[in-house]
Amino acid sequence: MRAAVLEAYGEPLSIESVPEPEPEPHGAVVEVEACGICRSDWHAWQGHGEWADDQVSLGQVLGHEPAGRVVAVGEDVTRLSVGDRVAVPFNLGDGACPHCLNGHGNVCDDGHALGFEMDAQGAFAEAVHVPHVEYNAVELPSNVAPEEMAALGCRYVTAFHALSHRVDLAAGDWVAVHGCGGLGLAAVQLAAALGAGVVAVDVREEPLALASDLGATTTVDASTVDDVPDEVAAVTGDGAHVSVDALGRAETCRNSVDCLRTRGTHVQLGLTTEAERGEVSLPIDAMTRWDISFLGSRGMPPTRYDELLRMMETGRIDPGALVTRRVPLSAVSDRLAAMSDYGTRGVEVVTEFGR
Ligand SMILES: [Zn+2]
Ligand SMILES: [Zn+2]
Repeated sequence: MRAAVLEAYGEPLSIESVPEPEPEPHGAVVEVEACGICRSDWHAWQGHGEWADDQVSLGQVLGHEPAGRVVAVGEDVTRLSVGDRVAVPFNLGDGACPHCLNGHGNVCDDGHALGFEMDAQGAFAEAVHVPHVEYNAVELPSNVAPEEMAALGCRYVTAFHALSHRVDLAAGDWVAVHGCGGLGLAAVQLAAALGAGVVAVDVREEPLALASDLGATTTVDASTVDDVPDEVAAVTGDGAHVSVDALGRAETCRNSVDCLRTRGTHVQLGLTTEAERGEVSLPIDAMTRWDISFLGSRGMPPTRYDELLRMMETGRIDPGALVTRRVPLSAVSDRLAAMSDYGTRGVEVVTEFGR
């Protein structure tokens, strides 16, 4: 089968023929019908993460936002059959450790990150293997297209888990979102759907216009203002109740913490770049003085996807609205390269795997 393989950091992915996966007894093989392209792929492609012992190895098939059709199941699998349509979370749990059993499969003791580990080859390929498929695969409602699910990707689940499970967001709260790439835009749409007022911050006009369309109450162009936290305070009165760094740069992280009101909560969603290497300086005395919370959050337990799917079914969120481009597998490298200078907007999805 065809797959896009990481052969050298920062160089075009190699489109090669690789062996088709065989299902493990607890696994399934899914023919990929759509797979989102994400900034996490870009980080992996750049070779980032070595500072957190998280660098992707060469030889990896990237791609972690697939949806498609089950084409083979392992001998122990009874709850899924060939032909079922599923989405696959990127953080794969074993379904058996204390975290999985307590509903926190996104931090499984024996988990794998799809498309980031040699044991979990990704979905920029014609097919992908899903281990512990009864725990991990999410069945698609009949009215949800694979492309919409790919757009849901890791961005909506990450934003939703952060806003709904990690933070107890209340209707009427103010949420600031720093960085309006795919993840930030998903956070904007979800925060608005959950009843919050939303301040969207970016340095580019087009994503800010998209953020307005998706429900942002107001937008701040950080390239034209002196002080982002001051602007957020001007809109929200005393600052945001919840603030999200959806980009992962020192400046966005710091702005996010600085724009909170007393007892506010920062959630870190973006991973840092070569410039920060995982380290950002923070005003910890002020955070202590004002009961500020700082949370990390990644992915979402597969067992909670039903909540998001209901929001899609009832039309409160529309991941498909973020899709700005559909590309064949052979174009993935170009689209990753476009991310280097923030030249993409919204979500781009691979929808053709044969060319
Ligand atoms: Zn587990
Ligand atoms: Zn992703």
